[in-house]
Amino acid sequence: MSNFHAESGPTLVAEPKPQKKDADYVFHELTRSICPECRKVIDAKILLRDNKVYMAKRCPDHGAFEALVYGDAEMYLSFSKYNKPGTIPLAFGTEIKGGCPLDCGLCPDHQQHACLGIIEVNSNCNMNCPLCFASARPGFSLTMEEVEAMLDDFIRTEGSPEVIQFSGGEPTIHPQIMDFVRAAKDRGIPFTMINTNGKRIAHDDRFLAELKEVGPSLYFQFDGFDSETYRIIRGEPDILAEKLLALDRLAAMGLSVTLVPAIERGVNEHEIGKIIDFAIKHPAVRGINFQPAFHAGRHMQHDPMQRITIPDIVKMIEEQTEKKFPTCNSVTYAFIDGEQVTPLSRIVNVYEYLDYITNRVMPDFSLEIKKALEGLWSSSSVSGSQKSAEQFSVSCQACGLPESLTVGDIAQNMLMIMLTDFMDPWTFNQKNLMKCCKEFLLPGGKQVPFCSYNTVGYREQARAQLDAMEPERRRSRHENTPYVVKPIEFDMTSKPHRP
Ligand code: SF4
Ligand code: SF4
Repeated sequence: MSNFHAESGPTLVAEPKPQKKDADYVFHELTRSICPECRKVIDAKILLRDNKVYMAKRCPDHGAFEALVYGDAEMYLSFSKYNKPGTIPLAFGTEIKGGCPLDCGLCPDHQQHACLGIIEVNSNCNMNCPLCFASARPGFSLTMEEVEAMLDDFIRTEGSPEVIQFSGGEPTIHPQIMDFVRAAKDRGIPFTMINTNGKRIAHDDRFLAELKEVGPSLYFQFDGFDSETYRIIRGEPDILAEKLLALDRLAAMGLSVTLVPAIERGVNEHEIGKIIDFAIKHPAVRGINFQPAFHAGRHMQHDPMQRITIPDIVKMIEEQTEKKFPTCNSVTYAFIDGEQVTPLSRIVNVYEYLDYITNRVMPDFSLEIKKALEGLWSSSSVSGSQKSAEQFSVSCQACGLPESLTVGDIAQNMLMIMLTDFMDPWTFNQKNLMKCCKEFLLPGGKQVPFCSYNTVGYREQARAQLDAMEPERRRSRHENTPYVVKPIEFDMTSKPHRP
């Protein structure tokens, strides 16, 4: 019976029935992350919305956080099939106690060996960049004994490590940097890199001559050409001339360089194509490693929902080079012959070869090509090296390169473009971290994956201990007595650590 009386009673309006609503995202997976405020380990959801990937999480003490992880959800999902099974190291440095990411490392839960070992030889720098994840300032300067012990530990866990990178601070201002490179070479580590801002190289002839003799490759900070770019990112608007001078001096010595541009939204994203054109033409440059600016350490304010991600850079490469470099992955290679640029992925079916899920055997499948491509697409690939030139040559059997080309010619004419996105406290994903193969090496043998070192609190604990050891190092240098190496220890479980 109706409760409504059309003529006499008051007019009642029926309450609308509550309607269920669809979420405006797809819940893709659950992982673990950290609170960007207190660094406590918390659950995190990976959400797909408007073809973008986001991380949403809630800290019981600091509330909810959401950040853009990846600017192309389709590309993000397609990567799982290129996820090569991990290679387990020969030995580990810690035990499983507090759970990932509090047991670095590497602990037996880690799913990948160290393809690249990084040694920060000092904390001081001859620059003072507003954007510096190492928070460079005076503090410590490692001794030969420490670096040798770290290299020996690297060999103990890896057997035959492939790549070592000396970093800082600014490693070129460490008085023993060349001895460190020699120590790595003496131990049979084939590729040594020095990570540099180029200042010393621009002006110090003796240093340059020594570089030529020892022969490391240079990982060279180069963010573009505009003075505004360098003012914002490096605090030095006029530094370009010095960088160009350093690059020319390296070319004259026959040394090979990978340019490392930090790309920040609204600052230098428009310079990507120009950097690539410059790299194609400059005789010292064999590769570029574009890195979205890393939001940790000494970093300018940023909006975690507007950060630049790998697909944004891929898109800009395609737009700004008129598709000279089509890439749907985070590495691509090209053979440069004058004005002609031949990307490897246009000629070889790279993505079928590296598909580990369907594991299809193609009619022209060659195990040799697959191995060579795996080497080129690995994080241990070093641009301009003899090894990557050999791998390029094998992968490119049907590319129509002139038969007279030697591996040396190929090394001179190939360009690698790599895109590396490091996780910050907003986008930190434990699942990715467990497969990280770029590790910081520390006195005492611990190896800490790049993104946990810089976000979870390891850097701050290591830095405090390394700084505190400095008086003892100074004494041993002054008295010319051997320095006794002291291990770095971490206490990550007592309470959340706010760096
Ligand atoms: S990141 Fe790797 S080494 Fe560190 S705690 Fe997790 S599994 Fe262990
Ligand atoms: S970012 Fe590099 S060059 Fe700049 S201050 Fe830090 S260590 Fe020095």
